[in-house]
Amino acid sequence: MPSQAPRPLVQLARISKGFNDGDQYHQVLDAIELRINRAETVALTGPSGSGKSTLLNLIGGFEYPDSGKLWLDGADCSLWRDPQWSRFRRQQLGVVFQQFNLLTPLNVRDNIAFPLALLGQKWNDWCDYLLYKLAIVELVNRPVEQLSGGQQQRVAIARALAHRPALLLADEPTGNLDAEAAEEVMQLLCMLAADAGSAILMVTHSNSAAQYMQRRWHLQQGKVHE
Ligand code: ADP
Ligand code: MG
Repeated sequence: MPSQAPRPLVQLARISKGFNDGDQYHQVLDAIELRINRAETVALTGPSGSGKSTLLNLIGGFEYPDSGKLWLDGADCSLWRDPQWSRFRRQQLGVVFQQFNLLTPLNVRDNIAFPLALLGQKWNDWCDYLLYKLAIVELVNRPVEQLSGGQQQRVAIARALAHRPALLLADEPTGNLDAEAAEEVMQLLCMLAADAGSAILMVTHSNSAAQYMQRRWHLQQGKVHE
């Protein structure tokens, strides 16, 4: 019997996307083909404006492709719209942005509990483990806007992983941090995503951040090169 490749967590086939710029159409992604397997970690680099965020937005259902097909865990989601995407994001997706995008005026605990509440779940041992590993135990009752950038990004990681998503999308997660905080955030992100069993697709400008991922992709002129 032929050995079967594992079902990819994310699969794109000939995905294209562009934007109208005045009366000009500007193609950003050109018939992209890619796969990400479960628990695989991928860095995505490329020049500014090359479409890195657009690619993440398509995979998270925040934008829709012009053409092509997209599968998530084997489900054809090319024709999904808001209700299906919302459910996928609640259950399967964590996101970390350059701007930490935490919920103010909530405190640390309520930020982390938020994605769980959307699933009807309560604070659990995994959440305590995240707090401990991220060294934010002492901060749980603090409003997030009082925290440093590095602390806020550690809270954002806990929030993104609280429901153990199959996929973590990170868009320049260390972009607003100094070198030391960036290094720490990358180590924690990788370790905790591995603990959660989450795959990672991470946009970064930083070669040292990219080195933390198992695979490295480069996006240029609408195409992804490994
Ligand atoms: P990157 O993240 O690699 O810097 P982006 O994906 O943000 O690049 O953007 C790629 C290109 O698409 C840029 O030229 C940008 O101006 C354009 N673009 C992105 N989103 C939109 C949008 N919603 N409307 C119009 N143009 C957009
Ligand atoms: Mg971007």
